[in-house]
Amino acid sequence: MPNNTFLSSFWKGFQIVKSHKTDSLISITLKPDSPAFCSCGRLSEFTHDTQWRTIKDAMILGAPVELLIQTRRITCSLCGTKTEAISWLKPYSRLTNRLIEYIEQLLPLLPIKHISELTGVHWHTIKNIDKQRLKRVIPDIPWDKLRQLVMDEFAIFKGHRYATVIADAQTHQVLWIGLGRSRTDIRPFFEELGEHAENIEAVAMDMNTAFDLEVKAHCPNARIVYDLFHVVAKYGREVMDRVRVDQANQLKEDKKARRWIKRSRWILLKNRDNLDANQQSYLDEILSVNHDLMVTHLLGEQLKELWYCDSETQAIELWDVW
Ligand SMILES: [Zn+2]
Repeated sequence: MPNNTFLSSFWKGFQIVKSHKTDSLISITLKPDSPAFCSCGRLSEFTHDTQWRTIKDAMILGAPVELLIQTRRITCSLCGTKTEAISWLKPYSRLTNRLIEYIEQLLPLLPIKHISELTGVHWHTIKNIDKQRLKRVIPDIPWDKLRQLVMDEFAIFKGHRYATVIADAQTHQVLWIGLGRSRTDIRPFFEELGEHAENIEAVAMDMNTAFDLEVKAHCPNARIVYDLFHVVAKYGREVMDRVRVDQANQLKEDKKARRWIKRSRWILLKNRDNLDANQQSYLDEILSVNHDLMVTHLLGEQLKELWYCDSETQAIELWDVW
């Protein structure tokens, strides 16, 4: 293959001395065709020896590319004996910069397993590229600016285990994620927060966790805030459901009415705005014939309004009415 094809321009300072294509791979052998430079920028005065390295490059026309490249160890007047600097390949890397960039572009779009199959690069290598990428793209945490936090737990491994996420309530930046949901599980976050814990004014969380105790132990000025979503969910589970079951049981003789109320669970728990026209009329009908369900449902709706008050005074008044 002649040296001056457009392909040669991919590997600055090197020329193609051999190329070979099979069904699944393009192999290209490269040798230096220009003076070697040290990483300090100095031109090499003397080539110490050469070595061959096998490198993966980005695909060409859908086929993976493997490079066999001859690199030089040089003597630099400043740095001593070193491997020459190559603009498109990092020292000791087995992947070209171009391939690393390509993988970085795919990482937000595809699972690592898929990228591995596509590029022929090992899963662990891609995982490491992803870690480096995330370190670059995720902003540093402004620990001294944190004032309000939100904490929540979520199930992983199909619900058998839990993890906790902690975020900045103002910017929604995720600050910390850890396995488990106990006090000791979340303690490392507060150890990292350190002296800035004093600045924390409020922490929003679910009602049925041990988070509040751990927050109080570290953040002397923080108030615990139970968030709307969790309180409304708890009201639905522990109040609305209880009343609904009681009402259904009182209708033992009237099997049809009993089944009708028993089946209303989701209609009663869901936000009215999220119901379609049929479900809304079903809800209205149930509420109009059953006084207790009507009252419980109304209280649930009013409970949500507490989170939308303009002032503390208004919230206290509304709470008293409730
Ligand atoms: Zn040097």
